[in-house]
Amino acid sequence: MLDNFGRKVNYVRISVTDRCDLRCKYCMPESNPYFYDKKEILSTKKLEKISNALVKLGIKKIRITGGEPLVRKDIIDYMSFLSKKLKQNKIDELLLTTNGTQLAKYASTLSHLGVKRINVSLDSLISEKFKFITNGGKLDQILEGIFLAREKNISIKINTVLLNKFNDDEIIPIMEWCAKNKFKLSFIEVMPIGEVSSSRSLQYLSVKTAKEIISKKFELVDSSLKSSGPSSYFFCKKLNSYVGFISPISDHFCLTCNRIRITSNGIIYPCLGDNNSVNLNPILETNKEYKLLEVLKNVIFNKPEKHNFNIDEKSYIKKRFMNTTGG
Ligand code: SAM
Ligand code: SF4
Repeated sequence: MLDNFGRKVNYVRISVTDRCDLRCKYCMPESNPYFYDKKEILSTKKLEKISNALVKLGIKKIRITGGEPLVRKDIIDYMSFLSKKLKQNKIDELLLTTNGTQLAKYASTLSHLGVKRINVSLDSLISEKFKFITNGGKLDQILEGIFLAREKNISIKINTVLLNKFNDDEIIPIMEWCAKNKFKLSFIEVMPIGEVSSSRSLQYLSVKTAKEIISKKFELVDSSLKSSGPSSYFFCKKLNSYVGFISPISDHFCLTCNRIRITSNGIIYPCLGDNNSVNLNPILETNKEYKLLEVLKNVIFNKPEKHNFNIDEKSYIKKRFMNTTGG
């Protein structure tokens, strides 16, 4: 359906858990006091109710995210339900964003369920650095999962958050590695969502700086390649591959935003960078679908025109972290 700015909203990102087996330093605090009470997490039944209603309102792409979606124990129950929607052509795509820790275990099942593309977050290809930024992650485990998923014909997109004085020196190696392995790649600017220990402006490395670093080695040419997400793509002739840039801070893409988000405890956010939200739980309890449809329609129609991130603030949004709204 269309929102009040004429944007077609056809894409939802559903966070199925706020829990995660990693603690990326820019995502959430190492000891996170803001996790939802386990009782609050939506059951598969409630997730199904919300999904049914969203599909009726014209949602065509569903991305499962988290926290780490694959640490949710009954994740396959919900994904099997969505897989049926996919097979009945009620949705066009079932997508997943993952940190890759559980991919080796789930690659085959995901492929059977019709998941054709996944985003894997990877901010360094150096084991020690990867361990540092994720607070304990094992790079080898992630790589094993990625290559297994590729073997199962799942197309891989690597998402790398640009982090000043952390991975500036890995921009080129990550591009070369993705090109060699035929993985898509997007570099993302860090967002001030949630107050973490280090200042966001110290973490921030702009897309502009990343492009300057790349231009010393490779020429990038404009490309008309589009995806359902916010990346703007360039072509690198030397590597014969595309590279995407997501610039929520330096050049926001709100005019073309087609997304809404649902948290694992049933809060709908029509914009990641805005605190406006609606708690769907009271309506989910009533079992009255027409009421749920009414609320969802209203939220979608009133999607804010744009976010108001400012990287100089300690954090624009304090107690909501990316592991709650997902990415
Ligand atoms: N755990 C999964 C993963 O890491 O892919 C899914 C959830 S994670 C919150 C989704 C994406 O958000 C990841 O690509 C992560 O790097 C990104 N992310 C987390 N915190 C961020 C922040 N403050 N700014 C920009 N991206 C962030
Ligand atoms: Fe976990 Fe993903 Fe956040 Fe890293 S970015 S801590 S993997 S939810």
